[in-house]
Order: sequence, then C-alpha cells, then structure tokens
Amino acid sequence: MQTLTQEQKDFLMASIRDIPDFPKPGILFKDITTLLNNPKAFNLLMEHLAARYCDMDLDYIAGIESRGFIFGAALAAKLGIGFVPIRKKGKLPAATIAEKYALEYGVDEVEIHIDAFRGNKGARVLLIDDLIATGGTAEATVRLIKDAGGECVEAVFLLELAFLEGADKLRHAVPIYSILKVH
Ligand code: AMP
Repeated sequence: MQTLTQEQKDFLMASIRDIPDFPKPGILFKDITTLLNNPKAFNLLMEHLAARYCDMDLDYIAGIESRGFIFGAALAAKLGIGFVPIRKKGKLPAATIAEKYALEYGVDEVEIHIDAFRGNKGARVLLIDDLIATGGTAEATVRLIKDAGGECVEAVFLLELAFLEGADKLRHAVPIYSILKVH
C-alpha cells in the first residue's frame, strides 16, 4: 500500500508508547519498541515503506543510530539493496568522514565510512530514522551522504515532531516523507 489510510496511521500512532521525562525532565520520549514487538504494526510499516520505495531505483539505505538501523536494515533487506549505518563519533571501525551539528548546548558529530557506497559516485540513497525533532542529526547526515559520494534522494521518518520545525529546515536540502506527525 503506497498510501496509508487515516485508520492505519492511527493504528501505527497508537502502537508507539509515550514515556514522559525520558531521558531528562520535560522530554516526552516516543518509544517505538512497542511498535516493533507488535507484529501487525511492524509489518504494516515495513510493507508500506517497501511499496513506496520499491520503484525509486535506490542503491542504499542509510540509517541513523540507533533506531534508524532497525527500520533501515529491515527495509534494505526487503528491497534487496545495501544498508549503511550512520553512527555517533568514534563507533565506526574503518576510515570515516564526520559532520558536526549543533545541539541545544554544545555540538555532536555523526560519521560514515568513507567507502560506504563502495565507490558508486552518485549512489541513490534513502535516509531513514525513527523520528525528526530539531532536524540537526538528519541535516548533518544529508551532508555526510554527499561527502561520501552519494545523493540523498529522500529522507523518511516514522514520526515528525512538527512543533520543532526540524522538517521545515531540512526540506530545503532534500525531499521529506514523515509518516506520522505530532503537532
Ligand atoms: P534531532 O536531531 O533533534 O532531529 O533529533 C533526532 C534524533 O533524536 C533521532 O535519532 C531520534 O531518535 C532522537 N529523538 C529526539 N527527540 C526524541 C523524542 N522525543 N523521542 C524519541 N526520540 C527522540
């Protein structure tokens, strides 16, 4: 199914658990483990993503640590294409490229292996993560994909925290598909 009905969206939203004040006071954490352990919800999501992306001539899926690994790896295997992990600084073992991004206080850094796209210049890459909040992580990842020789053709998120306007910032760089929005 290329598009989800409102009923299917409501079902997916209801399968995600809200955890108040995690990891610190004032944050409402969207816990997707309750979607993953619900076979109907996980399968609905993966079938929808596979139907949307099977004809987009993708070469790779790049998933952001750590929940982007789960959805990204499952989708890559379903589409028969490669998966590339985007990790926090210092976690990838081979030669890497890094991009910094601003946090509320301080900076963070994401990395990709230099040879992640196996020398395929212009590789068509789909970026995936569970959630877009301020958009800083995804913005840095789009730059990383470019630095590594790929072309980010779309960024997909299960959840968009629309009130933080991160997707609006990212949209100038890459098309965005947010499956569910929290207003
Ligand atoms: P940002 O760079 O602000 O868009 O943050 C996105 C990253 O932080 C994603 O990898 C999310 O998994 C995680 N994240 C941010 N806010 C939340 C939240 N309220 N619930 C769950 N994960 C979050």
